[in-house]
Amino acid sequence: MMKMFTSNKGVFISFEGIDGCGKSTQVSLLLSRLNDQGIKTKLVREPGGTKISEKIRNILLNKNYYEMSSRTEALLMTASRAQLTKEEIIPALEKGIFVIADRFKDSTLAYQGGGRGLNTEFLIGLNDFATFEIDPDLTFLLDIDAKDSFSLSKIENADRIEGAGIEFQQKVRSEYNKLAKLYDDRFITIDGSKSISVIHSTIWEKTINFFNENLK
Ligand code: ADP
Repeated sequence: MMKMFTSNKGVFISFEGIDGCGKSTQVSLLLSRLNDQGIKTKLVREPGGTKISEKIRNILLNKNYYEMSSRTEALLMTASRAQLTKEEIIPALEKGIFVIADRFKDSTLAYQGGGRGLNTEFLIGLNDFATFEIDPDLTFLLDIDAKDSFSLSKIENADRIEGAGIEFQQKVRSEYNKLAKLYDDRFITIDGSKSISVIHSTIWEKTINFFNENLK
């Protein structure tokens, strides 16, 4: 097993899906499994992950800023991502570290594009600018119906974006499904309604396959 992970090139894996689809749960399971194998890992979460990006996160998720326009939201999200990419992700990958992102560029296309209705072509360009044109090697999409989301029921605690409601989350979900088809070289769609351990096993198997196929 250890031999599979002796590459000195960093691997970049992102997790995507609507709010409460189980991303954070799967991110931490994958991280511990990699750490058990002696793999150096770095976890980043969006929006946030650097001093500047966390400040932007506070603005983005603040429920008092209900007047925020969709364009402002898209620019703040990608500003946060630009700092995270430059300060954390690129240096880690250059050191051969395994980077796991709890959300990355596809979230902008799904939420600000599919959810808020902004022009997707423009957002793709904005994303590429913010990420220095870096894409994840693998993107796990945890696909779940918004009605079955594991946390949207606690709506009174929802942040500004989660609070946008079920219909909004359904639009986000359908955009994610389109992205999975468009970027089928890196997207792996997983049925998020399965049990935590079944989902984790699938993710682990796909991660190992990626290593075997690409990093020998
Ligand atoms: P996200 O990061 O996508 O918002 P979380 O990983 O925080 O979602 O999960 C939200 C809640 O649902 C947590 O309480 C978690 O324990 C639970 N949960 C996560 N995945 C599953 C699953 N596959 N089945 C049932 N409950 C789950």
